[in-house]
Parts: sequence; structure tokens; C-alpha cells
Amino acid sequence: MRAMVLDKPRQPLQLRDVEKSRPAKGQLLVRIATCAVCRTDLHVVDGELPDPKLPLILGHQIVGRVEEIGEEANSKFKVGDRVGIPWLGWTDGDCVYCRSNRENLCDRAKFTGYTIDGGYAEFVVADARFCFHLPEQYDDVDVAPLLCAGMLGYRSYRKTGDAHRLGIYGFGNAARLITQIAIYEGREIFAFTRPGDKTGQESARKLGTAWAGGSDEMPPEKLDAAIIFAPVGALVPAALRALAKGGTVVCGGIHMSDIPSFPYVELWGERAICSVANLTRRDGEEFLDIAPRVPVRTETETFPLEEANTALDRFRSGELNATAVLLISDHPGAR
Ligand SMILES: [Zn+2]
Ligand SMILES: [Zn+2]
Repeated sequence: MRAMVLDKPRQPLQLRDVEKSRPAKGQLLVRIATCAVCRTDLHVVDGELPDPKLPLILGHQIVGRVEEIGEEANSKFKVGDRVGIPWLGWTDGDCVYCRSNRENLCDRAKFTGYTIDGGYAEFVVADARFCFHLPEQYDDVDVAPLLCAGMLGYRSYRKTGDAHRLGIYGFGNAARLITQIAIYEGREIFAFTRPGDKTGQESARKLGTAWAGGSDEMPPEKLDAAIIFAPVGALVPAALRALAKGGTVVCGGIHMSDIPSFPYVELWGERAICSVANLTRRDGEEFLDIAPRVPVRTETETFPLEEANTALDRFRSGELNATAVLLISDHPGAR
């Protein structure tokens, strides 16, 4: 099968013909139609995340169809079903975290496109227990960004509890998906972009945010909570200063630059800082239930599989206007 392979961090992916895996017990073999590109893929390529599997096939927002089912695979899928494969690829089901409904923190968890091979390829094998059925109203391109930006964004959003005035720092893919749900649920959204990014602020306002400005500005009212999706540690004290008493700053990314020191008085008043790690299957199911009801709309820009490096380069340099989605087999427009 064709695959884009990462041999070593800080090198371009290589188009290669690699052997197709066989589905083991409990696994599905999936013929991939599309795979969306996530900022985490960039962090892996750029060597910012420790110990990736190498060589590695990236990609953890995978949409495809079941081609073959390994022995004793979960009966919720049959051959031909459309399936979504997310970041959380496997857990032991047995550690203290798994036993307390926190499988996202499992000590032995495996992650698609990071510690196991992912979706920048024609086929992938995946543990059936971690795969999702996808809402029918989305096509293979539109649904792909829901599988990470959507699901992990949703977990970050849920961490803000019933915050009414919600700030979002870093108004990219995840922010745009979560804003649609938050407005649907009656929250007010305050969008923070890079200072001076008038286009970004205008597009946030078009989504219905109550306010949009630069991350160097203070919102017109104190916030009940803030989510930081940008990988910029300096935004943590900035967001804290924008919070009302009792508010929480949720750091939604897997990687962030160092957080500068700040006076304790800015945390005082029962303000809190927390991070969100990975997702549970339940997060995924809840998100896929609410997304079509809103309905959450995704914006995508497609690339053939062979042009994955172009998609990653354009993501890194901020030249993408939407989520990059790789078109792979059996898809209109795929080569
Ligand atoms: Zn991701
Ligand atoms: Zn575990």
C-alpha cells in the first residue's frame, strides 16, 4: 500500500510502498478514504513530542471503510461500514486510570499516528473498540476534522463546566468547532487571535462570537473560563488576568512553550489552571451525538496523500485557511 512515512523527526515524509498489516484479534482493517491533518502531527514531525514509533505513519483523524475484521472483533462493525479512527488507539483497561473512567490518562495507552501507525496511508489496522460510527450527514472530507479538533476540543470545552462567558485563545480549527457548540448551548464566546489578526477576528465574529480581539487585549467583561488552543505558554498568565474569581484556564493542546512566571495574586481568588490530555471513548461518542444536531460545520482544504508534506508546511507557516484533509483511496478527487 502507498503510505507517507516519517523516518526521523525534522525530515520530510517519504512516499513509500509498505506492506499492508493484517487485522489481529479485535482489530479492523480499514481502507482509508480521508485523513485530516492535526497540529499534533506537526509536533511529531518537528520532534516536539518524545518517543514516537519510528518509522511512523502519521494521522489520527481517519475516515474509511471496514475491509476486513480480525477474529473476535467487536460486533458493532461489519465489512463495508464507514468508520472513524481517533487519537486514542488502545488502552490496557486495567490500570488505576482506566478503572476510574479516565482511560485518557492510561499509563500504557497507545496513540494513533504517534505510537502506532495512523492514516497517511491507503490502509490501517485499528482496535475496533476505539473506532466510531460517524454521523451520516457528513461526507468523508467534512467529518474527518471532527475526529480530533472536534473531540479533543469538546473535552476542553466540557472542562469549563457551566461557564457562561468563555474565552478561547488561538482561534483555529478546534476553536471554530467548539464555538458552534458553545453558542448552541447559549454561551457567550470571546475569541482571542494573534495581535493584529483582523481577518481572524472578523471570521470569529461571523461565527457569532460576542467579542473578538487580539490576545494582548482584555475582554470587555471578565471571563468565567478560558480555553487555550494555541501552543503558547505566555497565553496562560494572559488568560488568567482575563478571568473572574473562580474561573478556570484550560490548556487544550498536547504541547506548549514554557509558561512565564506571574504574580500569585493573578491566581488568587480560586482561579485554576488545568490541562486536557487525549480523549475517552465517551467524549468521542458525546461529541458525535451533539455535532450533527448543532449542526457543527467544518471548513476543509484537501490535498492528495502524496502532498502531505505541502499540507504540513502550509500548516506550520500559518498559510492554511481551513483544516487540511488528505484524500486517499476511492474518493472523488483522490488520485
Ligand atoms: Zn489531533
Ligand atoms: Zn489503563
